[in-house]
Amino acid sequence: MATSEFDIIERYFMHHGTTRDDIVLGIGDDAALLQAPPARLLVSAVDTLVSGRHFPDNASAFDIGYKALAVNLSDLAAMGAEPAWATLALTLPEIDTAWLQAFADGFFSLADQHRLALVGGDTTRGPLSVSVQVQGFVESASVLRRDAAQSGQAIYVSGTPGDAAFALQALLRGDTVDPTLLKRLHRPTPRLALGQALGGVATAAVDVSDGLLADLGHILKASGCGATLWPDRLPQSDALRSLAGEVALEYQLNGGDDYELCFTVSPQRQAGLARVLEGLPVAVTEIGVVTAGPGIVCQPDNGVAYTPDAHGYDHFARGANG
Ligand code: ADP
Ligand code: MG
Repeated sequence: MATSEFDIIERYFMHHGTTRDDIVLGIGDDAALLQAPPARLLVSAVDTLVSGRHFPDNASAFDIGYKALAVNLSDLAAMGAEPAWATLALTLPEIDTAWLQAFADGFFSLADQHRLALVGGDTTRGPLSVSVQVQGFVESASVLRRDAAQSGQAIYVSGTPGDAAFALQALLRGDTVDPTLLKRLHRPTPRLALGQALGGVATAAVDVSDGLLADLGHILKASGCGATLWPDRLPQSDALRSLAGEVALEYQLNGGDDYELCFTVSPQRQAGLARVLEGLPVAVTEIGVVTAGPGIVCQPDNGVAYTPDAHGYDHFARGANG
């Protein structure tokens, strides 16, 4: 290699971004030493992005660095946690300094927004793959678990799910895609402020990475419940509004990669929800209700209830590149 592994670490990752008092020892030793706050739970998540599967081979390095962290922060958001630290395992086919610089810029642009510090990692040679592990904290009373939904609770979703999948399909067709819509695919916003605001207000939560039906299904399965969804009331972006109704609905229900939050709230807490949402940058929409179940039923405003076809993103079943 023209540049050694240690040169890469020093040049692109060490002493970059946020510094935090709770880091006793960061990048440079055999392991990092971190001081977790005694009164809160430590929350930990890891996700790997593989070239050709989770992003196209020609994806921009900035977007890859950004998204590798974003998908992990989204998992912390779905637990109600505040992020603190990350480690980064990077497998590179070659040393491309321009690529590394853009990758680090993308990663730190998001990390710095959330006071997240990179405290370690691993750098190896091989087919491009990026694995990020994140740690954060949450009060035990504020945890948002998948298994805490109950019949009668309202179901909400943030943002406008379906946009990322729509952008991806347009890209694959070779269409020109509106930059705002493309950003929903390449630079999703992890809903951290929302997740933290929901602590003590929402009961269960999940982030929507594989499609609304599939991810809401995780809450319902873990909680032993079902749901009625109101398809006419699903939030819809301008981009989806221009499509035929059933095509838009397919994106809304089964499109992945939006990293919005889907969560449940008991009727007594719904008034409190409006208060904690004030000032947050993302809208939430009530889309249905938890039932005894089992399964998800769609109830149109004017029409007969039906069971929607859930085919959320499954890498092994479909083997595509989502
Ligand atoms: P070891 O061989 O003891 O595991 P390494 O030589 O792999 O150590 O790493 C040296 C230091 O650099 C460690 O502190 C490690 O956490 C850090 N590091 C390695 N790769 C990365 C990376 N891609 N991003 C951030 N830190 C890294
Ligand atoms: Mg070592």
